[in-house]
Amino acid sequence: MTFHTSPPQSLESLRPTVKDPVLDLVRRAGHDVSDWSASSSRGAAGARTNPKYCYEWAFIEPGAGIVLNLWHQALSVTPAGQIVHRENFRADADALALRSPGSPRARRARRLVEALETAVREKLTIRVILNDGRRRDLADPHSAASSVTKRQLDPEPWTIVSYDWATGEHVLRRGAVGPAVVDQFSITADLGGTARRREHSGFVYVREARVRQAVLDRSAGRCEHCGVSGFRCPDGSLYLETHHIVPLHEGGPDVAENMIALCPSHHREAHYGECAGELRSRFQDQIRSLVHVGA
Ligand SMILES: [Zn+2]
Ligand SMILES: [Zn+2]
Repeated sequence: MTFHTSPPQSLESLRPTVKDPVLDLVRRAGHDVSDWSASSSRGAAGARTNPKYCYEWAFIEPGAGIVLNLWHQALSVTPAGQIVHRENFRADADALALRSPGSPRARRARRLVEALETAVREKLTIRVILNDGRRRDLADPHSAASSVTKRQLDPEPWTIVSYDWATGEHVLRRGAVGPAVVDQFSITADLGGTARRREHSGFVYVREARVRQAVLDRSAGRCEHCGVSGFRCPDGSLYLETHHIVPLHEGGPDVAENMIALCPSHHREAHYGECAGELRSRFQDQIRSLVHVGA
């Protein structure tokens, strides 16, 4: 897996430069597209533009993966240099269902939500077709329809960083699910800490472990402050340290939004540095920009 050691990615290098047929892109993503030609009455050439499929925004290969159409202009880069897509497909689908119930666009928007939620539930692989062109303004019912001028399959798979089942907001990150990421507590747990702590407060420990792991997964092995990769442990996992931004003894909540995965150096600095206070507010901004809190 080269993702974790690759340099921070640039958005411009991902801008599509050609307009490939959707059929070819979905096939290249590993999906079975034999259905596309089977249901086309116009033969092979017609199949490439089969309207039953080629205007869809998402494709599901059951048990395997999904392909999502995303706008290049909707991508952003996190402070740690990761490329992410943050939107709310469900809110868009709900708005469309109200405005034009039963329309093809409303149906496609619903399928997009279904695809993403299926991927979250079944942990499916996510591939992305990046689109460039003019995007319809969803807030304006009179805005012109979207038109795609370029589209290409991103060669990298994508990962779901977070999906809020309550609101529908998601954060997707470019790159495969990486190697395991561990922190200072995983290491001491291996040295016998787990058993000792479990005796005292089993529930708290288990819950905390789940939250810490969510933070480590979110980091993809990079310090969420500076973007440097954690060092590699003998078992291949990457080492970072989890840190409560507002400490628990100051009333900080034990939730992923109050935690950050840091390289050991930034973790020490957060505790002992002269700019510890400044770092705290930087961390808060950085995590807020990555995860929607409440909304
Ligand atoms: Zn760092
Ligand atoms: Zn700490």
